[in-house]
Parts: sequence; structure tokens; C-alpha cells
Amino acid sequence: YQFTANDLIDQEIIGQGSYGGVVTRMQHKQSGNVMAVKRVRAHEINTAEREKMLRELKIIIDSQNCEDIVKFYGAIFQDGDCWICMEIMDCSLDKFYREVYKIGEKLPEAVVGFIAASVVRALNYLKEALNIIHRDVKPSNILMCKSGFVKLCDFGISGYLVDSIAKTQDVGCQVYMAPERLSERKYDVRSDIWSLGVSLVEVCIGRFPYEDWNSVFDQLQAVVHGDPPLLSASGDYTIELVNFVNRCLIKDMNSRPKFSELMEDPFFKHYNAQGLAFVEQRASFGEYVARFLPIE
Ligand code: ADP
Ligand code: MG
Repeated sequence: YQFTANDLIDQEIIGQGSYGGVVTRMQHKQSGNVMAVKRVRAHEINTAEREKMLRELKIIIDSQNCEDIVKFYGAIFQDGDCWICMEIMDCSLDKFYREVYKIGEKLPEAVVGFIAASVVRALNYLKEALNIIHRDVKPSNILMCKSGFVKLCDFGISGYLVDSIAKTQDVGCQVYMAPERLSERKYDVRSDIWSLGVSLVEVCIGRFPYEDWNSVFDQLQAVVHGDPPLLSASGDYTIELVNFVNRCLIKDMNSRPKFSELMEDPFFKHYNAQGLAFVEQRASFGEYVARFLPIE
């Protein structure tokens, strides 16, 4: 894809980001293709960093052979902003689960399983094929569509933007960061697994699993020194689901499973079915998503 900002027609705002960015639906004039464009302030980003970003983006664009991650089309620097152009999806998991709870339902186990398996495959692909650690796994970065796909977004290039902006701002009130990140500024693939665990507990219980934080200090205390926000066994989900989620939330990073181990977990394996079984899972997942669309 080669295009500039002038080739894009603004259609509507899809979402407002937690770092001050805006995501807009835009149409490419010449081809008619519709995409999601995330605009973030790029004043803080110098030329060397921009070039590094664009090089990294090119690697991502050239090797997107994974249906579990959102496709990148390109990035444009325009009027001090960076426009990140990507595949457009129907909704994000944060809005979706709220919609489900709003009508008094819970996410069915099969839906949670399908999402969990997709995200684990996506993170594993990013690590193995692109050597990228995501760093911002959370429900709003897990996108879904009625054709039955779950795709992870906001990795790589946007990681630069997130980090450079996050440096200058307080951490938000709902963070998904692993204890080792907060206490030792250490980062590992397993830190993303923790964030996946927090996200899964959130969608299973219908709210962010930590109590409200009043300050960054509270948050540090709770995540670093408190108990992990484990999912308790209840009638709603099987013990396989509960065990899988709680393995992601082992506080000590060194005891937390890596992708290879998580991919041996019976819960993952069940929802990582092959062939016809997988096609069926995808179809019923898509039907379930469609029931709640459109979500504003
Ligand atoms: P955050 O992820 O912190 O909520 P973002 O700026 O990344 O902030 O995204 C804002 C919102 O836009 C997301 O919550 C999501 O609902 C929506 N969104 C982002 N990317 C896409 C996309 N590719 N397709 C559809 N919706 C998207
Ligand atoms: Mg996002």
C-alpha cells in the first residue's frame, strides 16, 4: 500500500484511546477499502525514532501471516501526528463484555476459550515470527468481528508511541501490568501472559478484578505486594478454564508458564482445535458476536 492522508476520507470516530489518541474509520478513495486509523501525537518522537518505527513497521507488514493479529497497512506522519492504518474490526472486547453483562448474561465458556486461544496464538506468533513482546495486552486491544475472528492489535509500532507517551504521564487507573514490570521494570514474554490473565478474569467476572485505585502508589501496593487477582471457582466456568486463567496469574514471573507451556494446557488445546472442529468453533463464536452488534 502506498497512500497519503489526502487519499483517505474521514468517516466516523470509532474510539477514544486512553493515551489521548483517536481511532477513526476511514475510506481509501481509490480502492474504496475501509480501515481503522489510529491518530496519536508524535511531537515527542524524533526523526531517528520515526525511522526506526517505520523500519519495524515494514518488517511487520512484510510478514503478516497470522490471522490472529490485526493487519497493518502503513503509517503516515501528518501535522505532528502519526496515523497508524490497520484492518478494521467490529468491536473490542472491553466494550463487548460490558454489553453482555448489561443484559444480565455472562460470557459463555466457549467464547472465553475461543478468545483465550486466539490471543495466546497471536502473542506466540509475535514472539516467534517477529520477535515482538506486546507490552499492552488488555481487553481494548483484543478485537473481534462477526465473521468469527479475534485479533490482537496495538503491538510493535504503537508500542513506541505508547511508551514514549506513557513516560510523560501517570499510569492510568486500570493497568494490566505484571508485578515484575512495576517493581523491577523487568520485561519478559511472561509479563504479557499476566496481562492476559487479568484481562480474562475481567471478562469472566464482568469488571476489572482489582479494587479501585486512588493513586499509583495503591496500584503498586496491590499488584506488587497483594495477592494475584485469581478467578475463583464458581458454577459459571469449568475447572479447566479457572486453572488456565490462574496459571497466567502466578505472581513470580519465573514460575509463570511461557507460551510453549501454556499451549500444552488442556484448556488451550480444546479451543485450539483443528480442521472442522475449529471451523465450527469460529462459526458459533461469530454468531455470538453478531448478536450484540452494533456496539456504540
Ligand atoms: P485503548 O486501546 O487504550 O482503548 P486505542 O486508541 O488503542 O485506545 O483505541 C481506542 C478504541 O478504538 C478501542 O477501545 C477500540 O474499541 C477501538 N479500536 C481500535 N482499533 C480498532 C480497529 N482496528 N478496529 C475497530 N475498532 C478499533
Ligand atoms: Mg488500543
